[in-house]
Amino acid sequence: MDTTLRTAGRRAALQSAAALGVGALAGCATGATAQGSPKTPFSVADTYIPVAGSDLQFPVRRIYCIGRNYAAHAREMGSDPTREPPFFFQKPTDAIQNVAPGTVADHPYPSLTKNYHYEVELVAALHRGGREIPVDKALDCVYAYAVGLDMTRRDLQRAMGDQKKPWEIGKSFDRSAPIGPLHLVAQTGHYTKGAIWLKVNGQTKQNANLNQMIWSVAEQISKLSEAFELAAGDIIYSGTPENVGPVVRGDVIECGIDGLPNLSVRIV
Ligand code: MN
Repeated sequence: MDTTLRTAGRRAALQSAAALGVGALAGCATGATAQGSPKTPFSVADTYIPVAGSDLQFPVRRIYCIGRNYAAHAREMGSDPTREPPFFFQKPTDAIQNVAPGTVADHPYPSLTKNYHYEVELVAALHRGGREIPVDKALDCVYAYAVGLDMTRRDLQRAMGDQKKPWEIGKSFDRSAPIGPLHLVAQTGHYTKGAIWLKVNGQTKQNANLNQMIWSVAEQISKLSEAFELAAGDIIYSGTPENVGPVVRGDVIECGIDGLPNLSVRIV
């Protein structure tokens, strides 16, 4: 890098630090490049989801998922949908597998499982957040929506549940979150009703309506914000309807939500 530029950058950093009344100025300045990003021994990939119809990429901060949010699915998982408050888990950000519309992406069958399940879900992507967000303000946080798959190693999830241990190995593994591009609320409005469906090898497996959610997206955001400070970049998998089931290598999953392009993956 040009020495003049670097010096100028350091001077700017020192001046802004001084303006903020920050101590140990030299220490602050030497750790940063002229752009202000930290010096690191290696780079780590960030995760993005394409925004449909633009060159924008949505930067992913956290992936939240809601459990048992359709009554019939709650019953098939062995719980009473009338009594349970919503509960949430997370996937790691890099679990995202971007899938372009009109393509069939190869999706690797993961290690360790013998019962690998699909769950089609509406995904809400946030451009703002906060704590204790009231339900009537919650949808203001939603920037866009997408179709997503909450892929699940069901045997491992159940085994860990039976042992009262965390679900991570069943839910939060590599590439467990295939997703289509984001569609802006400004262009599409909010998704509160409409078909949500999934086929395996052309045969319908899941077929329900978004209006059957127990907790709406607005209620999910409000409830989540009681437990976590939400922020721009967070996405929320809003739960799957009934008739989840297994896939094996060679199967093709196609799924969709009214008003969004279909999402397809081949299990390899
Ligand atoms: Mn799910």
